[in-house]
Amino acid sequence: MSQRILIIEDEQKFARFVEMELTYEGYEVTKAYDGRTGLQLAETGEFDLILLDIMLPGLNGMEVLRRIRRVSSVPVIMLTARDSVVDKVSGLDHGADDYITKPFAIEELLARIRTALRKTVAGPAQEERVLSVGDLRLDVRRRQVTVRGTPVELTKREFDLLKYLLENKGVVASREALLQSVWGFDFEGETNVVDVYIRFLRSKIDEVFGIKTISTVRGVGYVIRDED
Ligand code: CA
Repeated sequence: MSQRILIIEDEQKFARFVEMELTYEGYEVTKAYDGRTGLQLAETGEFDLILLDIMLPGLNGMEVLRRIRRVSSVPVIMLTARDSVVDKVSGLDHGADDYITKPFAIEELLARIRTALRKTVAGPAQEERVLSVGDLRLDVRRRQVTVRGTPVELTKREFDLLKYLLENKGVVASREALLQSVWGFDFEGETNVVDVYIRFLRSKIDEVFGIKTISTVRGVGYVIRDED
């Protein structure tokens, strides 16, 4: 199975050129021409590596990187303009795996891609994580939730909310914390959107399977606890 690479780059000609070269090398390539679209694609968790330009319209590369890192440890190689040392340092600080300065020789990019992909194979396979509580299992990479082996259909937001609570098992999360982590800092809504989504989860999971997954902590928020 070929490895999947996402290119987030607004210079379309350049993106197409890189796509052609990578496709020739046997990678499966998807392109996004702006930060927001790129982030949405990255959040699907379907890519093995991301090439991320820093100067992007809408959401800039650094912000895209920051948000990707909230949900994923997928390798990210930043594409930086010549001589912008600040970008390199700050990219690596924010969790980029590597950076490459434009313009670059395609062979150099290919070498870095191979290195970054090798690291994931060798390193802890974070994306292969399966989170669980009781009879419920959440497969992070496949984005699948099952209860006693039966699949549960969740929307992306429901999945992300459940994943966050499972990742922080035993820790009570406030509505504000959930909004910030699952909806993003710039979400300007009311915190009761969290309650609405908790209700969705309960109706799709607890009510269907007769289990109790998410507990309400009055006046504080929500928590998933291991059963005693
Ligand atoms: Ca650019």
